[in-house]
Amino acid sequence: MALRLFDTYTRTVRDFAPLRPPQVGLYTCGPTVYDYAHIGNLRTYLFADILRRTLAFNGYTVKHVMNITDVGHLVSDADTGEDKMEAGSRRTGMSAWEIAEMFTNVFQEDMRHLNILEPTLWCRATDHIPEQIAFIECIEAKGYTYRTSDGIYFDTSKLPDYGRLARLDIEGLQAGLRVDMGEKRNPTDFALWKFSPAGQQRQMEWDSPWGPGFPGWHIECSAMSAKYLGAFFDIHTGGEDHIPVHHTNEIAQTEACHGTRLANFWLHGYFLQLDEARMAKSAGGFLRVQTLIDRGYDPLAYRYLCLGAHYRARLNFTWDSLDGAVVALNRLRRAAYEWGRPGTLDEEYLDRFATCVNDDLNTPRAIAVAWDLVKSDLPAATKKATLLAFDQVFGLKLAEWEPPEEIIPDEILALVEQRQQARAEKRWQDADALREQVRAAGYDIEDTPQGPRVHSRL
Ligand SMILES: [Zn+2]
Repeated sequence: MALRLFDTYTRTVRDFAPLRPPQVGLYTCGPTVYDYAHIGNLRTYLFADILRRTLAFNGYTVKHVMNITDVGHLVSDADTGEDKMEAGSRRTGMSAWEIAEMFTNVFQEDMRHLNILEPTLWCRATDHIPEQIAFIECIEAKGYTYRTSDGIYFDTSKLPDYGRLARLDIEGLQAGLRVDMGEKRNPTDFALWKFSPAGQQRQMEWDSPWGPGFPGWHIECSAMSAKYLGAFFDIHTGGEDHIPVHHTNEIAQTEACHGTRLANFWLHGYFLQLDEARMAKSAGGFLRVQTLIDRGYDPLAYRYLCLGAHYRARLNFTWDSLDGAVVALNRLRRAAYEWGRPGTLDEEYLDRFATCVNDDLNTPRAIAVAWDLVKSDLPAATKKATLLAFDQVFGLKLAEWEPPEEIIPDEILALVEQRQQARAEKRWQDADALREQVRAAGYDIEDTPQGPRVHSRL
């Protein structure tokens, strides 16, 4: 079955076909590196990772570009307030550059914990200032910009299709306007270049044809995606929060300069609901991957939890649901481990799996197929090979897992020893009774060519 994806721009599920097969250009809006990412932010990157792995599963070569926003993202998404980097600098006493480096490293570490593949290419906004200036000059030359006392702005009224992605009600916005527009001509106009405040030297500022300052938040993505993937490429992803402002403005910039609507497909991951976690945050904490690790959780259990919900469904995070994911993941790992070496794939199961993931990345159904496979009567080696093929998309590292070294209590070891003795003497009923005794105490005996192996039952 061909890959089908929900495209936010058209609000339809469409057959996916690359613009330049077998290559697929994929751009993901990366983090603004002024603070830690919480596990809800990371759900968006898990979704992009599943998409990328599914594209590879379908035989495509994916060029995945992810940006690092290290300048220009203001405290309010509406181009007001301080730059998040400069605000972070004041908060921590570190320089804006140091903060960017530190939180970039933390983010990349979080990705490794969740087994999110590294993009083919990382790009930092501050490494692409000339490209952004050139892009603004292009928009200016086409007549879409105007100047205010604090920057160069995009005149959204000049673009007939502005707001199409978000189905923005522009007239409603104009009529219901209560916010202070300042010198902006339209409420949806946004900054392409902001001037450094008079008499103030910013930590991050550059010369430009319009005066010293820094780029607006949105221009980096139009400029860097065009540089690395072309002005019109296959798929752009981000979080659902990007739809009304950031992605709407990325599209406006690219339409103004290049006359294309940036990406052929727009995919958006939905948020995680963090009830308990939100409480933790207001109490001064912040639910990060590191928080999960500190509480003794394997971060891949969180990955499993996310696979259990469709990326366009809200997922409610609770500690109980994470506990459930731990148990399920460990069962899957244990099963895969005990099947031994992989043999040949089962095509029927592989087809069922492909049908699920190719149906707009339906991972909950794909996980259900994995459990059907576990319970099936197929030979162990076939199950193993087939599950490992699924795991190219799941990314749960099932091939690498080994049971943790367990300390088995002496009385259990004594029972196992007695059972070995009974078996050697062909007292089968005694041996079975002893195995039952061990089971009742919460342990399983697995007979291997090297002798019995004992582990606690999960
Ligand atoms: Zn972006």
